[in-house]
Amino acid sequence: MKNIRHSSLQDLEALMKEWSEPAFRAKQIYEWIWKRFAGDINDMTNLSKSLREKLAAAYFIPKVKVHHSQFSSDGTIKNRLELHDGYYVESVLIPTDKRMTVCVSSQVGCSLSCKFCATGFLPRKRNMDFDEIVDEVVLANEQSLQHYGKGITNIVFMGMGEPLLNYKNVMKAIEKISSPDSLGMSPRRITVSTAGIAKMIRQLGDDQVKFKLALSLHAANDRKRDEIMPINETNNTDELIDALNHFYKMTKNEITFEYILFKDFNDSTKDADELVKLYRQVPADLVNIIEYNPIEKAEFMKPEDDKVEAFMKYLESKRVNARLRRSRGKDIDAACGQLANVDKATA
Ligand code: SF4
Repeated sequence: MKNIRHSSLQDLEALMKEWSEPAFRAKQIYEWIWKRFAGDINDMTNLSKSLREKLAAAYFIPKVKVHHSQFSSDGTIKNRLELHDGYYVESVLIPTDKRMTVCVSSQVGCSLSCKFCATGFLPRKRNMDFDEIVDEVVLANEQSLQHYGKGITNIVFMGMGEPLLNYKNVMKAIEKISSPDSLGMSPRRITVSTAGIAKMIRQLGDDQVKFKLALSLHAANDRKRDEIMPINETNNTDELIDALNHFYKMTKNEITFEYILFKDFNDSTKDADELVKLYRQVPADLVNIIEYNPIEKAEFMKPEDDKVEAFMKYLESKRVNARLRRSRGKDIDAACGQLANVDKATA
């Protein structure tokens, strides 16, 4: 059985020709897949029964299903999603006054083992297919309409996995999400977040992508970054600075730094000063300072409020465009770095 979502419109046209079906059937099937997001070939009701049977004998739709959802008191919804081969990933819908953002996963588990991240303690099982990533967005959109009466406005690739290590599928998913033949969302509303794969950041520049880029920095010197993000040993901050400059030169797209504050590790004025120096070497728009959400397996703690305040004040005094992000969905382990397929009571 083949995944019908891996067939292009041209493939479907060729198939219809081979089966002596009229050419317009290909367009109908394509629309069922990418406009109406059919979960089953039998749902394609404007096709003849015999064509549906023929298709269903050779093809299937590996539709992602919501296994269960948890609802936070702040309105955040975390979904445990089941893939066709039984693996699970998580997505998070985050409502704010102006936006409905979905945070999506791109891999089952992650190979990068960042020391503060719950996903990093899971082995990487496989890459997600582009159509599975599109399903995550479609499901979140349906959920958003159902619970909040409006569709999603923004997508961030900050869930499980390193998107740039699943480059082809992430790029293809974004192409579908932004195509007028499918969801038609503006790529300017999409942010891909990376732990820092210099070669692939350069590739994004060469491919002249239209979406935004976020770098999970979390420490502004190599010694500290090596300690919490092993990927830094082969992609150090100098290489990342070069790659980000290349990305900006080629795309002029927004770059954001993500910086989680860990108590007594990266929260001093000296750390803030190192962050300022690095920020000045890259045309970054914004630094998001993120409140840490402790997880059981990691030793890190959240700094005291006055430490956070002093850190923010220092950045402000140096005219860094920095914002403090309070995490959402903490009561359901949906906050940054907490996605780990934890099986909790369904809601
Ligand atoms: S922070 Fe991102 S890259 Fe690092 S282990 Fe977690 S999911 Fe992987």
